[in-house]
Amino acid sequence: MPLKALKCPVCGERVAFKVTQEVVKNATTFPVPFKVIHGDHSFTVYLDSGLLISRVSARTTDSPPVESP
Ligand SMILES: [Zn+2]
Repeated sequence: MPLKALKCPVCGERVAFKVTQEVVKNATTFPVPFKVIHGDHSFTVYLDSGLLISRVSARTTDSPPVESP
């Protein structure tokens, strides 16, 4: 199970997490969004077919940011 490490886009601390081949095994489009929980917040990494991180977003796929008035 690959272990990934990167700088959290939310708090700036280094974070390590595991991803499994299952994440991309059944994917039809790439990159695949993968939600990472880091303490009381979370972010999304986008993985290509080789489980490499192609992009990191502070947004999470299931909780879009609230628009400011
Ligand atoms: Zn963080």
